[in-house]
Amino acid sequence: MTIKDYKFAGKKAIVRVDFNVPLDENGKITDDTRIRGALPTLKHILDEGGALIIMSHMGKPKGKVQAKFSLGQIKDAVAAALGRPVQFAEDCAKAQDQAAALKPGEVLLLENLRFYPEEEGKPVGIEKEDPAYEAAKKEMKARQKDFAKVLASYADCYVMDAFGTAHRKHASTAVIADYFDADNKMLGFLMEKEVAAVDAVLGDIKRPFVAIMGGSKVSSKIGIIENLLGKVDKLILCGGMTYTFAKAHGGEIGGSIVELDKLDVALGVEELAKKNGVELVLAPDAICADNFSNDANQKIFPSNAIPEGWEGLDAGPEAQKNFRNAIKGAKTILWNGPAGVFEFDNFCGGSRAIGEAIAEATAEGAFSLIGGGDSVACVNKFGLADKVSYISTGGGALLEAIEGKVLPGVAAIKG
Ligand code: AMP
Repeated sequence: MTIKDYKFAGKKAIVRVDFNVPLDENGKITDDTRIRGALPTLKHILDEGGALIIMSHMGKPKGKVQAKFSLGQIKDAVAAALGRPVQFAEDCAKAQDQAAALKPGEVLLLENLRFYPEEEGKPVGIEKEDPAYEAAKKEMKARQKDFAKVLASYADCYVMDAFGTAHRKHASTAVIADYFDADNKMLGFLMEKEVAAVDAVLGDIKRPFVAIMGGSKVSSKIGIIENLLGKVDKLILCGGMTYTFAKAHGGEIGGSIVELDKLDVALGVEELAKKNGVELVLAPDAICADNFSNDANQKIFPSNAIPEGWEGLDAGPEAQKNFRNAIKGAKTILWNGPAGVFEFDNFCGGSRAIGEAIAEATAEGAFSLIGGGDSVACVNKFGLADKVSYISTGGGALLEAIEGKVLPGVAAIKG
């Protein structure tokens, strides 16, 4: 079923959204992108005469009730965004009566799903090495099914619209779908858009395809890097990864961030790139700091000749020029991860150069997909959000989708 075709009038819809929004110390939302992202789906259901049961997780409460992760904190913001009152169910697994009483146009927000360990379905308080772990896991999986069944009992149909958690096989993102037949479950508009954006990048690839991977570590991105090496024409590797590559060739990197146990992985990436005929673009120079702060003294060094007392925090001028040149003329672009410590205004030039080059290529017809919290923050920081083709709300989910993995949240609906 598709959300456009479904007749919501007089029906109750349970919708999994990603309302895992950042809050400040007073519980105020600091970035409401995720709430805004879910609005098209939520408003559509209400406009069509349906009633809404909204469910989400927030943070990592690890299966326990913790006030600081309560979705009650964002109830008013959700009500303001929807322009109507929102009721709140303080226990997401005991909301039968509130759900049953909902009338068309009414909205019920469930408390954080992850207050129950059943949501994630991982046994708590037992280590993987424990001989009893497998039995505990089996038991938790059974409890996860029961929990999903309770959630499903609240509604006539299920809508999956939480792309940020679509790579997880949780009760609310995937297991719940088993309790609805194919005519009563569907992806929401946000999910549809995200899936289409991934298809646009991977389906019929327009070349040259340039991917830019940055961020702090090689280790967390190696899966996607290896995968991209089978697809892209050029791969820019930047950010903290730069120094693991420099070190792997015996370079001096001062106090720069490095993964000493990943030097062979870096060399392996270079080898694979060569084998696949992919042009690997690394930063030949770095803007270095004498301490990890925005106000540190700055000096430019070759990335493989950084003296002690200095650490590379951003791509150097030569690197920035190379990045711009590599992106120029691209027809498909994927960007994940900043080129430096972009949170410091004095060390965001490399990330800005990438963002600007992507915006220029997009203006000339490229399809550009930006994903992962930090690259999205970069694009917003530099005022380039409306100059790229698509900004994904997913970090891990986007990378797994690009890797070609089937997301459990999509499979649960589409089979
Ligand atoms: P990740 O979560 O792996 O995508 O990494 C994002 C983080 O990497 C951002 O918070 C950046 O500040 C950080 N980062 C990027 N380049 C560097 C660098 N050269 N040194 C330290 N941190 C970096």
